[in-house]
Amino acid sequence: MQTAIATVCLSGDLAEKLEAIAAAGFKGVEIFENDLLTFNGTNHEVRQRMADLGLTPIAFQPFRDYEGWDEARRTRALARAERKFDAMAELGCDLLMVCSNVSPEASGGVERAADDFRALGERARQRGFRVAFEALAWGRHINDYRDSWEVVRRADHPNVGVVLDSFHICAKRTDLRAIRSIPGDRIFLVQIADAPWLDMDIMQWSRHFRCFPGQGDLPIEDFMSALGATGYDGPLSLEIFNDQFRAGSSRGIAVDGRRSLIYMVDKMIERGGSALQRGSERLPPQSTCRGVEFVEFAVDEKAGAALGKMFSGMGFAKTGTHVSKDVSRWTQGGINLVINAEKDGFAHAYQISHGTSVCAIGLKVDNAAATLDRAERLLDKPFRQPVGPGELEIPAVRGLGGSLLYFIDQSSELGRVWDIEFKPTGEVSAAALAGAGLTGIDHISQSMQYEEMLSWLLFYSSLLVVEKTRELDIADPGGLVRSQVIQTADGALRIPLNGSQSARTQSSRFLSEFFGSGVQHIAFNSDDLVATMQRLVANGIKMLPIPENYYDDLEARGDLTPERIDLYRANNILYDRDEHGEYLQAYSQSFEELFFFEFVERRGYKGFGAVNAPIRLAAQARLARHPAVPSR
Ligand code: MG
Ligand code: MG
Repeated sequence: MQTAIATVCLSGDLAEKLEAIAAAGFKGVEIFENDLLTFNGTNHEVRQRMADLGLTPIAFQPFRDYEGWDEARRTRALARAERKFDAMAELGCDLLMVCSNVSPEASGGVERAADDFRALGERARQRGFRVAFEALAWGRHINDYRDSWEVVRRADHPNVGVVLDSFHICAKRTDLRAIRSIPGDRIFLVQIADAPWLDMDIMQWSRHFRCFPGQGDLPIEDFMSALGATGYDGPLSLEIFNDQFRAGSSRGIAVDGRRSLIYMVDKMIERGGSALQRGSERLPPQSTCRGVEFVEFAVDEKAGAALGKMFSGMGFAKTGTHVSKDVSRWTQGGINLVINAEKDGFAHAYQISHGTSVCAIGLKVDNAAATLDRAERLLDKPFRQPVGPGELEIPAVRGLGGSLLYFIDQSSELGRVWDIEFKPTGEVSAAALAGAGLTGIDHISQSMQYEEMLSWLLFYSSLLVVEKTRELDIADPGGLVRSQVIQTADGALRIPLNGSQSARTQSSRFLSEFFGSGVQHIAFNSDDLVATMQRLVANGIKMLPIPENYYDDLEARGDLTPERIDLYRANNILYDRDEHGEYLQAYSQSFEELFFFEFVERRGYKGFGAVNAPIRLAAQARLARHPAVPSR
């Protein structure tokens, strides 16, 4: 299968775009005319650059407002087309993409449009070119692929074919079945774009919110299945207009594009294959995550002592020390936290650039080696560092902000990592292990630049069997925070991704304090949050004070008895419920303004307390301004 990407997807000038596209491993490129107009060089130079990079121009686009004109305007439109053909000759590109006329002055009529395309096709044939017709979802007369195909069918010219663009087709929920009856050799170009379902003007939606397959909600797999039935074996080209992509790094976005296609094609093979997947190999299956084996913090000596003290207060016991390194293991219930105070190696480098922070997360999977293999084939970046004597090489890839994602399984030696690499401290009684009643990790919340959110969504969802929730906007005193969760169906792994466009939100302040994206908070489960809170406060853990008004409002809602509200008020506990059950949550104050911990009691509830997030964010903002306010 030939994969391609339109230059319009990426930021930068044409030279940067072409380099990023080639570096990500694409062989084909759609040249967006505007990128040529702003390029400081000739078309011949662009052609040479593409050749040097091993790229083939698969289409030149767009040619707008062509069909349905009166005779005088048709003559002018054909003259305009000849100038595009001149540019294509210079570029070495043989396909012109024509999109349907949006002018209110154009006339309709399939037969008339077919005549126009027969004329254009003949001009193209004389110069050795082809033209492909795309129905824009907002075209004046032609806005449905079934009509653009009918125009192409009636034009009946070998140099005229149809374009299928998954956005224009799926966004209008057009029946996909008719795709199956288009002969594959009459389809000259397939453009792939996904998008989140948004209730908005379709043109604005298309121009700002398209995304790579796997990042949105459109039925791309159904589209691909229908396409598979046509026998089409031409290029699949990503055509994405997205503000986040335009603000992102062209190299990173190009890699995301390739990753999305590799992931999509693999799913298609799984669904039964077709001409499109010829020559493509299956990836190892998406990995099922069984939970979080550990979370590792990079610290210096001073922060290490303070963090250890905080862990103790939260009921964790120091159960192990590393056989050869300044690394300790802290345990409670099913939770393992690791404090890494080494003076060299990855964690140290991470600590230098980010300060005290989560530098790695270990995920429990069924097959760690296969997970790494899949990750590498999806162009994720593997991580290796020299291992000391007696240490295990734990498979890992780079995750958010350059942190590590380790893979641990029970079927290899990795399952015994604690026994192999750590000496028990011996000081820990069974009672101490029960600690403050924390049983497991409920979720790990990651903050990032808004522009990065789609990248990490794709990173997690292409590698692991996870579902994504709808995007939510959460009000922070400093602006809106966009939030989307990736999680396994059983909740073994839950990762809320938070991105902020305003520099004044808590999420953004975290990014600037922390020098980049990373883990902002970790939530632990408790079966009895009130008892846990009492234990934590007795141990000297400072909790986030929740304002009185919140509890007045809770009273007004009338869901809870006054006794329960008093209990929650006394323990700074926030409350929510959904159709599945109740949710109690409380927050620690932050560790050196860097990250914080959340404690939750999940009684069947499926969400993350989004209604309470503004209360929490405001309380944190207040505390940051007045740190002397005592904790209740
Ligand atoms: Mg298109
Ligand atoms: Mg949370």
